[in-house]
Amino acid sequence: MLAICSRTVYPKNLMPHLLSAVLLFILMLPDPAQGWGRTGHFITGEIAQRHLTPEAAAHVERILGETSLAVATVWMDQVRSQDAFRHTADWHWVTIPDGMRYEEAEHNPNGDVVEAFERQIAALKSGELSPEEERDAFRMVIHMIGDMHQPLHVGTGEDRGGNDVRVQWLGNRSNLHRVWDTDMIESWGLTTTQFTDALLILDEETIAAWKQGGPRDWAHESMVYRSDIYDLPENLELGWEYRNRNFHIVEKRLLQSGLRIAMVINEIYGS
Ligand SMILES: [Zn+2]
Repeated sequence: MLAICSRTVYPKNLMPHLLSAVLLFILMLPDPAQGWGRTGHFITGEIAQRHLTPEAAAHVERILGETSLAVATVWMDQVRSQDAFRHTADWHWVTIPDGMRYEEAEHNPNGDVVEAFERQIAALKSGELSPEEERDAFRMVIHMIGDMHQPLHVGTGEDRGGNDVRVQWLGNRSNLHRVWDTDMIESWGLTTTQFTDALLILDEETIAAWKQGGPRDWAHESMVYRSDIYDLPENLELGWEYRNRNFHIVEKRLLQSGLRIAMVINEIYGS
């Protein structure tokens, strides 16, 4: 679109309209690193809320005030384009090429979801933050746990976490990242609460088994799903067959995110 504009001479008074059209087009492009869409993050917050200890729940209320844990999970996406938080733009994802571990991969000088998470956790545990700093660090931590569980937020370094893989989703233009962030979740047509109720039919053993590990483990887990994610039909037309084959991964990663958000909060504030 920009290339076409540069080759064509438009009357001067049309330029502002064209510029706004281009701007609107850019704004409408899928965000390259959004994490779970809003519904996905809400679900992780809702799951976490139901697994907090009473002490931790009281601290969450102190930190967030009137805002629910579910709503607070998306704050980091909402502020990323503000000047004060532009430095956090790359803290939603990490690149780990196939066959490597986080420690072996080349690190982004602007930070990544793993190291940013580790720093924010250390800051929260230090007990030295002002109330505003604590709230910001807290909201980042609960968002980043969700992001690192979205398998395409741990990218191979080849296609911007699936954003460059243009696909059709049920006949509409989409990309592979968006399919995993949002499209498959929305295809269920459930509210956050209905979704959470449907997911939370886990036995205690599974819950205990999943409440483990740290950000590096969780990022490595996300890499395991690459062979499933990239098993695409040649025409790149995705729909119910792809969804039914892969939705168990979405469910598992949402559940694990939620349980681990609770685990992290309980660890810091649980007693
Ligand atoms: Zn994010």
